[in-house]
Amino acid sequence: MAFYSTNDRTNIVDLKEAVLNAFPKDKGLYLPEHIPHLDKAFITNLEYYSFPEIGFIVANALTGQAIPESDLYQIVESAINFPAPLIQLNESLSILELFHGPTMAFKDFGARFMAKLMAHFLKSESRETTILVATSGDTGGAVAAGFYDVPGINVIILYPSGKVSPLQEKQLTSWGKNITAIEVSGVFDDCQALVKEAFIDNDLSQRFSFSSANSINIARLIPQSFYYFEAYKQIENKSKPVIFSVPSGNYGNLTAGVLAHKLGLPIYKFIAASNTNNVVPEYLESGNFLARPSIETMSNAMDVGNPSNFARLQNIYASGSGSTWNNIKKNLVGYSYGDLETLEAINEVYKKYNYIIDPHGAVGYLAANDYCKLFPDSKVVVFETAHPGKFDQAFEKLKISFDLPSKLKAFENKKKQSLNCTSNYSDFKDLLLSF
Ligand SMILES: *Cc1c(COP(=O)(O)O)cnc(C)c1O
Repeated sequence: MAFYSTNDRTNIVDLKEAVLNAFPKDKGLYLPEHIPHLDKAFITNLEYYSFPEIGFIVANALTGQAIPESDLYQIVESAINFPAPLIQLNESLSILELFHGPTMAFKDFGARFMAKLMAHFLKSESRETTILVATSGDTGGAVAAGFYDVPGINVIILYPSGKVSPLQEKQLTSWGKNITAIEVSGVFDDCQALVKEAFIDNDLSQRFSFSSANSINIARLIPQSFYYFEAYKQIENKSKPVIFSVPSGNYGNLTAGVLAHKLGLPIYKFIAASNTNNVVPEYLESGNFLARPSIETMSNAMDVGNPSNFARLQNIYASGSGSTWNNIKKNLVGYSYGDLETLEAINEVYKKYNYIIDPHGAVGYLAANDYCKLFPDSKVVVFETAHPGKFDQAFEKLKISFDLPSKLKAFENKKKQSLNCTSNYSDFKDLLLSF
């Protein structure tokens, strides 16, 4: 499979290059050139396939057989070694729990698959690769866990000081060995901007062979398509339109769903569920995309003011007749909510369904609920993108208590180790050159 850059259709690379060098000099993002339609029989018989089998078939289609099948199966099977159960709330609403991986956020899917894929590509090479990654909270921990102790790969994580939860901070700073955390005095968008600038810096590229582990890397999106199929498999009455409500920040998760849709999964619509950082819902409403600095909210992993994957969405929907905006609007609906509504939703889900949802999932729930008021004859799947235990402050406010799972407890007593940096690019560059 060839991959093209969203900024230049003639800039074509193979999978290895797209994964190891995720950010082309033209500043576009890679997408598969041709997305095949999967066999209809596969879609109608999904219940006969295990989650890793589904993952293998989807990955094989999206990578165009770039990896020997037995290797790819092993990558999928070892990366996706935890389930994604669907919990039904009522006739129209259900929740897909995406937090059963080691760091208890859905980012484990992307990070684990990417780590194994990169290790596969670097097996035969002597060069060391440095992964630069900006995190709004969950990516850092998942990437650290995925790459910890992987030979030949160093990881540098940038996170906004004071803007991630205490537990998230431990999950990304307490590793040591090949994992380094940098605490940036700024917001997530500053971290993302520093990373993007470093990728195209010629001085740095003489010292480092950089790669990205953010959702600008297509290797993150491929495994995120798997669980759309896995969710669809578990829906009981498929005669109603199936809608996914995706709590969104950088829009990697939603874009992965669009890839699943292109592969032939009958998804009726996607709900772009956002917090007050609502540039995409606003675009869907007005046709204007206005990136702006992110605002701090309770669902901090969605505090993104300039979502990277918007470029991919634009590109995918630009092909076909009609304007890009009209095409996107056929598949996507947008909703956004503030922290107060999010808290109320957590409370409502607890009282009504005895289910504890985290602030990100709660935004997805609010959007799904509002959608169902208009279209009650739907099957809406809300993605629960992280375990509530990662965001205990919200639950303290609501006086909802629960035991922290042992996977999370293990981080509480670990020691934070991080370097400090301003959001100024030359400071960041000096810091990297001092390594
Ligand atoms: C990263 C993250 C999101 C946003 O996902 P995107 O792919 O960036 O849109 C939502 N919820 C949680 C818990 C996350 O960690």
